[in-house]
Amino acid sequence: MWYAKMYFSEGKEIFQYDAAGTQGVPSVQKELPFLESLLSFQELDCSELTPMLQYITDNWSKLVAEGDMEARTNAMMKLGALASVHIYFQLLYVHCYDRQVTMSIKNDRGNLEDQQMLDELRRLPELLPLYQKQIQRFFDLVLDVDTAGREPQLQASKNYTYDNPNDSGLFKFHPIPLSFEPVEYQKCSPVLYSASISDMIDYSLRSCVERGITVRRCKNCGRYFPQTGRVSAEYCERPVPKGQQRCREIGALKQWTKKQSDDPVFKAYRKEYKKRFAWIKAGRITDEEFYAWSEKAREEKKKCDRGIITLEEFKQWLAESK
Ligand SMILES: [Zn+2]
Repeated sequence: MWYAKMYFSEGKEIFQYDAAGTQGVPSVQKELPFLESLLSFQELDCSELTPMLQYITDNWSKLVAEGDMEARTNAMMKLGALASVHIYFQLLYVHCYDRQVTMSIKNDRGNLEDQQMLDELRRLPELLPLYQKQIQRFFDLVLDVDTAGREPQLQASKNYTYDNPNDSGLFKFHPIPLSFEPVEYQKCSPVLYSASISDMIDYSLRSCVERGITVRRCKNCGRYFPQTGRVSAEYCERPVPKGQQRCREIGALKQWTKKQSDDPVFKAYRKEYKKRFAWIKAGRITDEEFYAWSEKAREEKKKCDRGIITLEEFKQWLAESK
C-alpha cells in the first residue's frame, strides 16, 4: 500500500508521506504555511511542465503495456525531477512509485489501478491549467476579500447549487477521502488520504470557506496570501528566499515611515536633530553634548505626543534648548 496524507493544523499545512512508497507508514513530514501549496501551485507555469508530463506518460504507458523496465526507470527519474518542482508532484511520485512496485502482482484490481494511474498522468497537461483557472475563479467569486467580500461562506452558498457551481468556470467539488484522527497532542482533525492533485486543491479551498479565511493580493509582491490573522492585512508573510525581508516587515516599515513623515511633532524634532547632528562635524558641539541634548529632546517629544505640552511649546523648546 502507498501512503500520503495532508492536514491543516493552526497556521500550517502538513504533508506526511512514505518517501519510498513501500513502507506503508509516513517517513517524511513537510510543513508549509497554511495554503502555501495551493498558492504556489497557482504560480506554476504549466506549459513548462508539459514536455516532462508527456515523457512520463509515454514511458508509463510502455511500462503498463509491455512491462518495459527501461521505460520504468525513465518514468521514475522524470517523476523524481518533477517532484522537486512542487509538493503535489512529490505525492504523485510516491503514488507512482507504489504502483510500479505492485505492478508485477497482476490481478483485476491491479490492472484497473494501473489504467487509472495512466489516465491521470495522461490528462495532467490539460488538467493543471484548468485547475488553475478554476481556482482563480473561486478566488474572484468566493475568497478574494477585495472582489468577493469578507464572507466566504455567504459567497460560496450563493455560487453553488448542491455541489454544482453556478458558473461553469468555477471549481467543482467532489467527495474526497477524508479521515479523522489525532494529529497533535490532544487534538483530532480531518486528514486527507489522497495524492490526487484535485483532491488536495478541493480540500484546501473548502477549508478556507469552512474557516472563513479570505485571500488578498499583497501590496508589495502582488502575490495572493491567506488572511489568517487580521482581515485588514495588506502585506503577505509568505516565504521568501533566504536573506530577503518578508513583505509584512517591509509593509510595517513603510507604514511607520509614512506615519512619521505625516506627523508634525516628529518633523519638528527631526529637523532640529539633523541640524544639531551637523554641528558635531562643524566642531560647534561635542558628541556627548549632542547625545545629552537628543535624550532631553526625546523626553520633550514624548510630552508633546501625550498632549502635556503643545506643538508650539515643543518647537519653542527645540529652538531654545542647549
Ligand atoms: Zn508579499
